Amino acid sequence: MFELNTKRLLANAARADTLELMDRVTVLREHLEAEALEIAEAELARRGITPEEIAAHGRKWKHRVLRDENGMVWCCSWCGRAAVAEEIGWHRWLGLIPIWRRRYRYCETHWRQYHPEAPWA
Ligand SMILES: [Zn+2]
Repeated sequence: MFELNTKRLLANAARADTLELMDRVTVLREHLEAEALEIAEAELARRGITPEEIAAHGRKWKHRVLRDENGMVWCCSWCGRAAVAEEIGWHRWLGLIPIWRRRYRYCETHWRQYHPEAPWA
């Protein structure tokens, strides 16, 4: 079982977007189990990301990510990056028919994708 988990973590890290991996090892660090953290760091090193770049990424985002009352960082509703913006929107059945209001959280990438017209705060 341990090996299966390691394989799953390796495959997940290999597929993950570089910015998502950088979020994981910085602002989302405390959410990760030790092995997942180690694998994410190794994958970043394999992609040629330096420890300095990772530290700069952490400094850039640590005061901008959204946190709950316990200080845990919220994740984007659309991917595994840390959320930096939120809004109340409609949950739509089949993507069309508004059913209920819910809170959507966005990472930088998805905020820009869903709000191309909005100024970046
Ligand atoms: Zn996202």
